[in-house]
Amino acid sequence: MIAGIDWRAEAGRLTLRDKAFIGGAFVDAANGETFDDISPVDGTVLAKVVSAGPEDVDRAVKAARSAFEKGVWADQSPKARKRTLIKFADLIAKHADELALLETLDMGKPIANARNGDLRAVVECVRWYGEAIDKIYDEIAPTAKTALALITREPLGVVGAVVPWNFPLLMAAWKFAPALAAGNSVVLKPAEQSPLSALRVAELALEAGIPPGVFNVVPGFGETAVQALGRHPDVDAISFTGSTEVGKLFLKYSGESNMKVVSLECGGKTPNIVFADTPDLDAAASGAADGIFYNSGQVCDAASRLLVEEKIHDAFLDKVTKLAANYQPSDPLDQKTQMGAMVDGTQTKRVLNYIAKGKQEGAALALGGKQVRTETGGFYIEPTVFDRVDNKMTIAREEIFGPVLSTITFKTADEAIRLANDSSYGLEANLWTNDLSKAHKIARAMRAGTVTINTRDGGGIEVPFGGYKQSGFGRDKSLHALEKYTQLKTTYINVGP
Ligand code: NAD
Repeated sequence: MIAGIDWRAEAGRLTLRDKAFIGGAFVDAANGETFDDISPVDGTVLAKVVSAGPEDVDRAVKAARSAFEKGVWADQSPKARKRTLIKFADLIAKHADELALLETLDMGKPIANARNGDLRAVVECVRWYGEAIDKIYDEIAPTAKTALALITREPLGVVGAVVPWNFPLLMAAWKFAPALAAGNSVVLKPAEQSPLSALRVAELALEAGIPPGVFNVVPGFGETAVQALGRHPDVDAISFTGSTEVGKLFLKYSGESNMKVVSLECGGKTPNIVFADTPDLDAAASGAADGIFYNSGQVCDAASRLLVEEKIHDAFLDKVTKLAANYQPSDPLDQKTQMGAMVDGTQTKRVLNYIAKGKQEGAALALGGKQVRTETGGFYIEPTVFDRVDNKMTIAREEIFGPVLSTITFKTADEAIRLANDSSYGLEANLWTNDLSKAHKIARAMRAGTVTINTRDGGGIEVPFGGYKQSGFGRDKSLHALEKYTQLKTTYINVGP
């Protein structure tokens, strides 16, 4: 529990890791370059962090490859890897306050969310893959008696994991935990906005007993560090979470280099469909508000399009706007805060531009719309609700990644399905109704990787998560994530007549 901690005082006592972690040690960039890691809480420079370039990425890949070839991790028994991963999870749990604070300082999310949401999920994720890995069996194919065909899963080798800033450690854990469990070496590139928690966790991995070179972290920028990773001839797979625009670059990098495996978890524009027969409209309204204002709307499956049945439109929107008041941005280091900062000035400007565009294209601003708390030096935007949005408007089509809700009305279930699927994204859909057949019909019709019914909760580590359409391909979480980090080998043996 976090009650009673003076987080600002704790922040003053932190030791920040600001170098790249390669081959089990913190190192400077080959060319000595660093970048300013700025806190969106108040605009101060937290650290000057190593800006890895192609030479550093190459060093990290070589360390990862060497560890893989030597078999220091890959050749350990699944049971041995399990023990180490569970120890790793325990160490993350032990340092959860410190790691949560790093996340809040780095990207501005409320400390209560970082500590009770993100860090708990990270610990669970690492422990879960540790627990799972010695319980998975390989296969024998149904051949004739004269043959024995073994189908075995093998690690890929060196996995490059590239992640965004909205859940810095959790998005990383969704990748490094299954990749490591399967026996791969990992080179992780955290987002330039939020590198600090990943660097600290790399140190904990070593302390847990993951051998040097198996888990490396290279902070830096997309065009330099990530492009070098994406094009590296000795990287076997890239597992990416981030925007659709950048995700597409990895397909190109792969095609122009060594045809490495690419999996993409990209953007979303989740439709949240609310029918008049919803059993608990208050719960639906809470889901709608939390769905767009949690983490300042910087969530890939944020419920950014509220599709509401026309006959309850006024009453429902009234409930949602009243709940929005609970999300007034305040100090992320205060544990009562429900909505904190935007990640940086660039993202703030981007969201404000979308708000201006919404007004310009004729949507009705029902709540918020302004930048606030500028006196702090940080970056904050009010919870914002647009009404009378047409699904063709820019704010209904593009991923805003901010606390901006677009309300669209519908009259029939068929119209709701058409509007929900009329998007280039397909990460998630939410649905509220009391009618079981309608719920099944719509869930089946949704072109989305996850459909939630009468809840916004899409499940924990035990269920897969990922997108249809331009939300990407491949799945994080669950045993299915291991498919991204392993390949199948057939060994076909002639056993004679
Ligand atoms: P982003 O695409 O800008 O950056 C993600 C990563 O790619 C970062 O590490 C960044 O350094 C790198 N990158 C940036 N430009 C690059 C380039 N030109 N070449 C190579 N690499 C580059 O995304 P973001 O702004 O950090 O995060 C927000 C996005 O992430 C949203 O679109 C959101 O929907 C998505 N996201 C998706 C999921 C999911 O599971 N589907 C989860 C969280 C976030």
